[in-house]
Amino acid sequence: MPAIIPIPAFSDNYIWLLRDGSRAAVVDAGDAVPVLDFLAREKLTLTAILATHHHPDHVGGNAALLERFPVPVYGPAGETIPGRTQALREGDAITVPGIGCTLSVLDVPGHTAGHIAYVGDVGGTMAAFVGDTLFAGGCGRLFEGTPAQMMVSLAKLAALPPETRVYCAHEYTLANLRFAAAVEPANPALRARIARERDKRERGVPTIPSTMADEHATNPFLRAAEPDVFRAAEAHAGHALADPVAAFATLREWKNGFR
Ligand SMILES: [Zn+2]
Repeated sequence: MPAIIPIPAFSDNYIWLLRDGSRAAVVDAGDAVPVLDFLAREKLTLTAILATHHHPDHVGGNAALLERFPVPVYGPAGETIPGRTQALREGDAITVPGIGCTLSVLDVPGHTAGHIAYVGDVGGTMAAFVGDTLFAGGCGRLFEGTPAQMMVSLAKLAALPPETRVYCAHEYTLANLRFAAAVEPANPALRARIARERDKRERGVPTIPSTMADEHATNPFLRAAEPDVFRAAEAHAGHALADPVAAFATLREWKNGFR
């Protein structure tokens, strides 16, 4: 049965490693060094590299990994991915080489124009590898897309079963939840989650994966249409907002400047 293991990279990235026996595939290999160290330590053979989008902290390790392991590289059809051998778009499904799991592909543009997510059953649990689209308690910045586009992308992810484990690529959770608390100070699920995630960080444990149920209950970027969140966005904007897209856009701008 495959297991999913976080490999910390840079200051706050996670490279996700899917392990089945002595084989491993990696998602968003921003840095080859910690991956090669882990593979050597655990005596694993790399079987595949999966990429969600083109940013260097997600694909910067591909070339060095390929020198050591010439494996297939899966990535979004709409972006330039170093070493890519398989171009993917929504509707595609892949059987991860060497790992007993099949993942389907969703187009989730917004953070980047061609961003994809990988979704499927890994070792008996629904897992979603969402890159920089949905974060625990937040969402990615809109570098190449519009708020309306990102809302559609997040809605696709939010439609996954509530027990789906969300594997995002950064440990941004506590900062995201601090912002969420500014938006929705009276949300009891949010207060409980902040205590829970703080405790994990104090013990040096990743807050990732979260569950989709957690995100529904506490992530303001999935809650733009909720009355309390919508009103908070209006209060921040200082005027009435036309619809949830306008509220989402306001939340994203607000978060960009939030310290
Ligand atoms: Zn990114």
